Amino acid sequence: MPKTISKKKNNTIKLKFDTWQYAPAPESKSAASIKPQYDLFINGEWVKPSGNKYFDTINPATEEKLSEVAEANVADVDKAVSAARRSYEKVWKKMPAKERAKYIFRIARIVQEKARELAIIETLDGGKAIRESRDFDVPTAANHFFYYAGWADKLEYAFPNCATEPLGVAGQIIPWNFPLLMAAWKIAPALATGNTVVLKPAETTSLTALKLAEIIQEADLPPGVVNIITGAGSTGAAIVNHPDINKIAFTGSTDVGKIIQRAIAGTNKKATLELGGKAANIIFEDAPIDQAVEGVVNGIYFNQGHVCCAGSRLYVQESVAKEVIRKLKDRIESLIVGDPMDKNTDIGAINSRQQLETIHKYIKIGEAEGSEMYQSSCSLPAKGFWCRPTLFTNVAQSNRIAQEEIFGPVLAILTFRTDDEVIEKANNSPYGLSAGVWTDKGSKIFNMTKRMRAGVIWANTFNKFDPSSPFGGYKESGYGREGGLHGLLPYLNLNPLSP
Ligand code: NAP
Ligand code: MG
Repeated sequence: MPKTISKKKNNTIKLKFDTWQYAPAPESKSAASIKPQYDLFINGEWVKPSGNKYFDTINPATEEKLSEVAEANVADVDKAVSAARRSYEKVWKKMPAKERAKYIFRIARIVQEKARELAIIETLDGGKAIRESRDFDVPTAANHFFYYAGWADKLEYAFPNCATEPLGVAGQIIPWNFPLLMAAWKIAPALATGNTVVLKPAETTSLTALKLAEIIQEADLPPGVVNIITGAGSTGAAIVNHPDINKIAFTGSTDVGKIIQRAIAGTNKKATLELGGKAANIIFEDAPIDQAVEGVVNGIYFNQGHVCCAGSRLYVQESVAKEVIRKLKDRIESLIVGDPMDKNTDIGAINSRQQLETIHKYIKIGEAEGSEMYQSSCSLPAKGFWCRPTLFTNVAQSNRIAQEEIFGPVLAILTFRTDDEVIEKANNSPYGLSAGVWTDKGSKIFNMTKRMRAGVIWANTFNKFDPSSPFGGYKESGYGREGGLHGLLPYLNLNPLSP
């Protein structure tokens, strides 16, 4: 329905439309059971933390306490690593691969059965829109378990002419943006290759990993094969520094990635590091503009921009820049920001007060640097942590908002004229996790993707994931690959067989 009709000087008529208002469609909290307190999952049992300390986990959309979670100290980490070692030596590495596979398939199926509950808990604990956790996080997590269950007894085909050998105990540390999915990314390939696991979720989003521990119990996985311990950064550091860990799999910030690298230097611990990003999303003038705009919105605003591979730098060819910016402004005006449990919500809550403060700091930096800011005019709930979808124009390549990872719904828009110029600009970043190219020409896609330094490059789409495709970064975005056949390698020693 037209809201206003105004006549411009040149006699063109401008219609401004009201955003469609949807009736509330909240998902039900009652479909999820959250215990008031969670202990540590060690050796197949729930054990009290030895320091008897617990911390609150809250719903960032309401600031209400959801539960309290145990804080594991060095002694608890040692207990978990010992349990993982015992079960590695006595049970898991000796088990025929096809038997291991059955357990992983069982976990996958229970994740599917409990999909609704897991999605609700993910949204309550982390703040992301239920649409995201229901349609992406949980199904993709189940798919990872299915996919790697399939590989468990086929490693000789994955790596022909090589004998494969597991590494031992893997210490796995994950961030808050995709809590269940990251747990699946880490646990599934480790188990498929015969390793045992000690996993630590992020402090603000422990609940789905703890639910996964319940699922693992239900699947009757032998005790100690997967241990899930909660806590803050110091718990993660205790895992990294434990002498009986053979491999660290870390997803998180580049700063902590560097600490981990320093901590394991000189040891024979292997590591994969999946770190930060500042993806360039590039729109050429021949691109299907409406689809590209939708892809940009999907790439930076959905999931509150809490995505390591978010398309946070947009490069638009000068001839279409005006049109793209106008369409982006219109589109962000129609995004629904608010209650993450509502099925219509596009953008939920920012994960924590601390992250919200970081985002606000960068918005101020962008303004101080002289860029022009535009935010949607949506109203925000009174309680909880919220950020309006934001974009900056007139951004210079050297500006901090174009160089540093913000990890929020904030887009920096820059322009370019030629292919060479945009390659130069896109690669001029300390990061190299992902990128996007929008063009009508296949040849241009191949030319661009060959020259861009990023682990994943999407063409005429963005943020698409599949368990069979490898994911990982260049430069300060880390090293090692997760997903696909490549994702098995970091958990194995390969010994060439003599002919
Ligand atoms: P973070 O602060 O690095 O934390 C990641 C994990 O490490 C959390 O479990 C954290 O525990 C733990 N940790 C903190 N200090 C540690 C230490 N000294 N030693 C060992 N572990 C430690 O990152 P975040 O803020 O949670 O996540 C956002 C970052 O992750 C962004 O930079 C994003 O780009 C990156 N990320 C990358 C990928 C990828 O695949 N490349 C995917 C998702 C996210 P606490 O939470 O309790 O502090
Ligand atoms: Mg929480």
